[in-house]
This record gives sequence, C-alpha cells and structure tokens, in this order.
Amino acid sequence: MIIAIKQGTPEEEIRSLAAGLEKQGVQVHVSAGVSQTVLGLVGDTAAIDADALSAHHLVEKVIRVQEPYKRANRKLHPSDTVISIAGCGAASGNTVHRIGDGFFGVIAGPCSVETPEQIVSIAQEVKKAGASFLRGGAFKPRTSPYSFQGLGANGLELLLEAKKATGLPIVTELMDMQQIDLFNDVDVIQVGARNMQNFSMLKELGCCKKPILLKRGYAATFTELLMAAEYIMRGGNDSVILCERGIRTFETYTRNTLDISAVPALKRQSHLPVIVDPSHAAGLSWMVPALSKAAIAAGADGIIVEVHNNPEKALCDGEQSITPAAFAELMKTLRKYMELEGKRLA
Ligand code: PEP
Ligand code: MN
Repeated sequence: MIIAIKQGTPEEEIRSLAAGLEKQGVQVHVSAGVSQTVLGLVGDTAAIDADALSAHHLVEKVIRVQEPYKRANRKLHPSDTVISIAGCGAASGNTVHRIGDGFFGVIAGPCSVETPEQIVSIAQEVKKAGASFLRGGAFKPRTSPYSFQGLGANGLELLLEAKKATGLPIVTELMDMQQIDLFNDVDVIQVGARNMQNFSMLKELGCCKKPILLKRGYAATFTELLMAAEYIMRGGNDSVILCERGIRTFETYTRNTLDISAVPALKRQSHLPVIVDPSHAAGLSWMVPALSKAAIAAGADGIIVEVHNNPEKALCDGEQSITPAAFAELMKTLRKYMELEGKRLA
C-alpha cells in the first residue's frame, strides 16, 4: 500500500502517522521528495483500513498495491484448491467426488424439491448420466412472497432420501443461520446470490466444516465475490467453491447475462474452484447446452444445472430446466469437451 502525504505536512506529524501504522503490524518506508512525501507499507496490509486512511487529514491519496483478500489469493497459494466430497453409503460405491485442478464437477437436479418421486427419480437419472452431485432447493429465495417457498425441513428430508437411494452428495441452499441444525447431513451448503454479502452468515459459515458453494451476487464485482469468500475462509473454512450465475445487465432477452469472463478472471486471482450455473444465467433451457460448453472452454471446474422430470409443471424455474433425457444428451457432448480441455469428470 502506498500513501501520498499532503504537501507541507511537518516531518514530525508524518513520523507519528508512520509509527501508528507500524503498531498495526506493517513496516513503513518513508520516501521524502522535494515537494511530496510518500509512505510505502510492506507486510500484511489486509487489516489496514484504506478508507479510514484516505479520510486522514494528512493523507492525499491511498493506493492499494496488493489485493485486499489474502486467503483466497492465488499469489499466496499458487496451486489450485481441490474440494473432495465422499459419496454416501453403499449406493455410492465409495466414490470420492472432486472439484478443482482438472476435476470437473457436475451438480444437477431440480430447482426445488417437490415430491419424493420427483427428487428420487431425477437423482437416479442424473446419476446415470454422470452427475456427481444432486442439487435441490428446500428453502427457496423467491422474489414474490406468493410464489412457492420450498418444502423447508420436509424438502431436506426428501433430499436425504434421494442421497440414500443414489449415494450422490447433496447441494442445497441455506437461507438463514437459524436453519443450520437441519443441514447436518447436507454435503455442500449453497449461499445464494441474494446472500453473497450477508456478512454475519458468511462469518458463521467460516466455523462450519462443510464446503460452501458461494454464488456471485447479481451486481457483485469479482473483488466483492472474493472478499465474500475471504469472510468464510478467515473463520477457518477453506472449502469454498465460487459460482458465476449471471449478472444484471440492460439485456432482457436472458434472465441474467452469463459473465463468462468471470471464469478466467477469478481463476487467475484465486486458487478456489470456479463453477458456472448456465440455468440461472440464461433462464432458458434451450440455451443451457451452449453455455455449459462455454463454461468448459473458459476453464471452469464444474457446472450446476437445473434438471426437472416435467419442466412445464415445475413449481419453480421450469423455463430454464432441462429434462433428464436432455441432460443425458448434454453429458455426452460435455465429455468430449472435457477431454479436449484435459478435464476429468469426478
Ligand atoms: C438456486 O440455485 O436455486 C438459486 C436460487 O440460485 P441464485 O442464488 O444464483 O439465484
Ligand atoms: Mn432455480
């Protein structure tokens, strides 16, 4: 971090500012020019509040040289993080599923858990086609309070039934920390786009021992997403999977705009796995195959896809859900793309 001091500041005041900064654990190098003095801060500047410093009466300008995130930063952890999750029980055949560093994870399932038959049959079909995780929402963040809100605790029970039947690890969204006790047997906790900056929740999930699937808020920058991951990691939980799920733009043809550049950009800045959600990005089932292929080509570590046995009758997000048959077809194509990119389905 570099701090430009206002012209004409007495040397004594600069020394006292530097001493105060050193108390915060950084080394301060003072460069006194003819008209301007500059302080160079070396060491762990993550805890230095750049905004507060900018407001200091002696300070002209503050320039951050290093990124404000540390644990999520690739510079401090050059190798790719791999998240490993064991399948469950006899049906899993003791498979360990992996995401990251060449292991491509496919998470598939309905937007929402609806009935035992629905979730178990979709789980069986997506497993047969090669999915490594089952998704399904029990607690649903809906724009309208009059829309289907998910089956809640009962939905989680049904997801666990599907997990037992197939051995597939389950991924489901936690909307509120008050629900956490119900999530003991959930394998990956999803933090939805709307909660990406729920900082108290992120802090609490830092103490949790489960992998977190962190979805990008629809108006969040890469740095904001990485800082959200940093909140979780700072608490001691390093198992974070980042997810690009489309952002808000002026375009209305698609539900959101898939920011495919998020994949290489996030992977350059961070060692965490990055996956793509083509379903919520497009909002249109027919576009899901094209965006899934784009995800692999861009270097993603996985995809999360909505699959429904009867999209027309789905209680949530039918328009963007593909059928199990379309999913099986898609997987055939994606296997070829994975091979080209040196990725393995895991
Ligand atoms: C979801 O995956 O079910 C979901 C609600 O996604 P998002 O938070 O990205 O909108
Ligand atoms: Mn959905």
